[in-house]
Amino acid sequence: MFTHTRDKTLTCVDCRQEFTFTASEQQFFADRQFSEPRRCPSCRASRKAARGASDGGYASGGYSAGGYDRPQREMFSATCSSCGREAQVPFRPNGSKPVYCSDCFKTQRRSF
Ligand SMILES: [Zn+2]
Ligand SMILES: [Zn+2]
Repeated sequence: MFTHTRDKTLTCVDCRQEFTFTASEQQFFADRQFSEPRRCPSCRASRKAARGASDGGYASGGYSAGGYDRPQREMFSATCSSCGREAQVPFRPNGSKPVYCSDCFKTQRRSF
């Protein structure tokens, strides 16, 4: 049996106004496995605008799909044994080996 999707009337949780969740929108949401909208289009638009102003928008949100392509290396802060500046190294300095900043590291290598 074919079930026909029909327009639904939902109530906005923000302004308590009723708005239409059309059949085509329901299909769109179902395709993407989104849950039903809880806000009317105008409240959604204003929330999106407010969020965009604070964190730069939608794309920077909590989506981490594909985030494993470029794993971020954990870097440790250490003091360069040569020049005394702060150095960032990809291993935890244990004090037994000298740590060099990138500049001094290049210099050290050159001297060998
Ligand atoms: Zn609303
Ligand atoms: Zn240095």
